[in-house]
Amino acid sequence: MNTKATSLSLNTQILIALVAGIVVGVLLNFSGAAEAYPLLTQETSRTVGSLFVRALQLLVIPVVFVSLVCGASSLSDPSRLGRLGGKTILLYLMTTAVAITLALVAGIGFEPGAGIERDFTPMGEIASAPALSEVILRIVPRNIVEAMAEGNMLGLILFALLIGVAITLSGDAGKRIGSFFDDLNVVVMKFVELIMKVAPIGVFALMVQLGASTGIDVFARLALYVSLVLIVLLIHVSVTYPLLVRVFGGLNPIIFLKKMRPVMLFAFSTASSNATIPVNLRNLTRRLGVHNNIASFTVPLGATINMDGTAIMQGLATTFIAQAYGVDLSAVQYLTIILMVIMASVGAAGVPGVGLILLATVLQQVNLPVEAIGMILGVDRILDMARTAVNVTGDAAVSLVVARTEGELDIDTYMQMDDDDDDGGVAELQGA
Ligand code: ASP
Repeated sequence: MNTKATSLSLNTQILIALVAGIVVGVLLNFSGAAEAYPLLTQETSRTVGSLFVRALQLLVIPVVFVSLVCGASSLSDPSRLGRLGGKTILLYLMTTAVAITLALVAGIGFEPGAGIERDFTPMGEIASAPALSEVILRIVPRNIVEAMAEGNMLGLILFALLIGVAITLSGDAGKRIGSFFDDLNVVVMKFVELIMKVAPIGVFALMVQLGASTGIDVFARLALYVSLVLIVLLIHVSVTYPLLVRVFGGLNPIIFLKKMRPVMLFAFSTASSNATIPVNLRNLTRRLGVHNNIASFTVPLGATINMDGTAIMQGLATTFIAQAYGVDLSAVQYLTIILMVIMASVGAAGVPGVGLILLATVLQQVNLPVEAIGMILGVDRILDMARTAVNVTGDAAVSLVVARTEGELDIDTYMQMDDDDDDGGVAELQGA
């Protein structure tokens, strides 16, 4: 598109905003300006960044609800839902199992916690994880308004699916309501595009705040742990997902990774899979060719139950803590860790920092001290950002494979690498 010659693509703009934000933030931090003028620096960037994240969060419920109703009502045969659901959940569990295994192998092989003294003092409050029975109960909400207000994604998914199925079974009345939802879907997706236009400003502000408020010293002490988490995250994205896309989907994984970049940037800067749902959904349907009846179901479900990046952090954190406390874990304990981490990944909502909260449950199961989480609290923010980027990429990879195997992938759209390709569809937005 000609627009590209005169203006930078959104993807490039976001990337520049991200790097520039970190640089400005670190400069403010080290020049002492962040401390001297907190109102002008930290408060302003926090407010602007939060405005952006809140705008994305504002979209989550309408986008999930409307696109899922459209998706479910466009399935000609509602009984396909069962098979679709089974396949999606199985793939999500499989990728998480691979993720946690990679993390444990790295943790045992490189011993990031060896030689660390164990007398750290906890640095914050650790909340406890919800019980499994509670997670199951939340699938059927008592009150849909309450479920929406609480951001209860599983409850919302079930409700929207049932409405969609009811629409298909309601003859003419269903057709009318169905086309109303189709129109509504176009409108909410337009809303997503509007918010994406201000993404560079939002991302810049979030990064300034990160740079201005994070001390470097805390990283030095935990360098091996931090690097290991980042390396395993990278391996998972550059090996596991490409293999999945290639072997199960028969697709070129390079295209997948290239087209996922803007979504990863959103996830990285917001540290929230939930807030990234609208962007992921739009990218999958518009640029990767996944039909809405698959993506509308797999993306919000994945944002809730599939957290490979979080599993990697939890696996490495557990071995790190065990080593720091001089505890030798048995084979049974490692198995327990695998199961608990997978369950924690299912039960956690895709919001910032929740992976660390659920780590408490994992530690309890293998009798490691929960207060040891204090050791890694200081570096978790940056790891949260990186693992969220992995979480959303996993959701997209599985969505792609499910769509491909269900015959719901538009291969031409997937293959198309045009001028706009870098920009997450922004040339289109700018022209609009
Ligand atoms: N922030 C992550 C997400 O939203 C969850 C976590 O690991 O804390 O996917």
